[in-house]
Amino acid sequence: MAGERRDLVDSFGRVIRDLRISVTDRCNFRCTYCMPEEGMKWLDREEVLSFEEFERIARIFVERCGVEGIRLTGGEPTVRADIVTLVQKLAALNVDLAMTTNGSRLTSLAHDLRAAGLRRLNISLDTLRRERFTEMTRRDELDKVLAGIDAAIDAGFDPVKVNAVVERGVNDDEIVDLAQFGRERGVEVRFIEFMPLDASGHWVNDSVVGQDEIVETIAAVFPLEPVPARGAAPADRWRYLDGRGMVGVIPSVTKPFCGDCDRVRLTAEGQFRTCLFATEEFDVRTLLRGGASDDEIVELLASAVGDKWAGHQINQVSFTRPARTMSQIGG
Ligand code: SAM
Ligand code: SF4
Repeated sequence: MAGERRDLVDSFGRVIRDLRISVTDRCNFRCTYCMPEEGMKWLDREEVLSFEEFERIARIFVERCGVEGIRLTGGEPTVRADIVTLVQKLAALNVDLAMTTNGSRLTSLAHDLRAAGLRRLNISLDTLRRERFTEMTRRDELDKVLAGIDAAIDAGFDPVKVNAVVERGVNDDEIVDLAQFGRERGVEVRFIEFMPLDASGHWVNDSVVGQDEIVETIAAVFPLEPVPARGAAPADRWRYLDGRGMVGVIPSVTKPFCGDCDRVRLTAEGQFRTCLFATEEFDVRTLLRGGASDDEIVELLASAVGDKWAGHQINQVSFTRPARTMSQIGG
């Protein structure tokens, strides 16, 4: 029998509608702003949730707690064996199912993911220069990612979005080139401000290229007009005045959007986090594996969300970096 519906609402009145699930902590890239080159400590196989466990917890979020969108991430979601089957299982929940991927495996997977019910794809691409790509990801796979973007378009994902993290002195001279790439390929590029979630801890405030600078840089070449109201979505968006599509910026550092946040996260090993920057996690896996009822799991989720903080404080002295990196949390 279906249990009672209980929206997850925090003490600021924000209602949770979006769940990010990290399906693996592993990755075939080693982006410098995310992972170390070597020495990453991977989860043991039995620590990571099974497909059945992901399916159950996702069902609880959707059917009991009113979650409307699920995004699969990682690590790199496409390195999880049989990811298409997981997509199929979650698509049966009839939610807005999306994935964030580095794109390197999409030439073989894009059509199957689409057929399995994945609705939206975000592909990460921070540079169009091969040497720089190899430096930034520590893998010589730019061509594979570009082919992956083509495969996603060919498979009918619309719009395909391309995520580009901008780091000062690393790739900030490519903002216009990346915008142009988006215009030409018909994909929506979303620039992401560099966040203090890198494994090496080299993030400093000066390495962030802020939203205003990004938008001014693009608009000087391709005039833009703002698109009003992003709601709970993290990206602010602009339209090219010549009708060649849209571009977005995710201004997590310079203009945090915590006030409208409707997101929560589940790590690959079943730890529940109410914020990307949370320093506390709630152990859903122990409940899942310990015979807990759906009601008991809803209770844990609701009480964790009830204590969700107002927002991260990257720009303040009180800010504490979470102990985990982006790849371990699930970006
Ligand atoms: N492996 C997949 C990918 O790269 O798209 C999914 C996981 S990745 C952690 C999710 C997103 O987080 C990517 O768009 C990545 O560029 C971004 N990201 C990783 N580290 C970041 C950081 N320190 N600051 C901002 N964005 C970051
Ligand atoms: Fe892997 Fe994505 Fe992190 Fe790059 S950003 S190392 S592709 S998880």
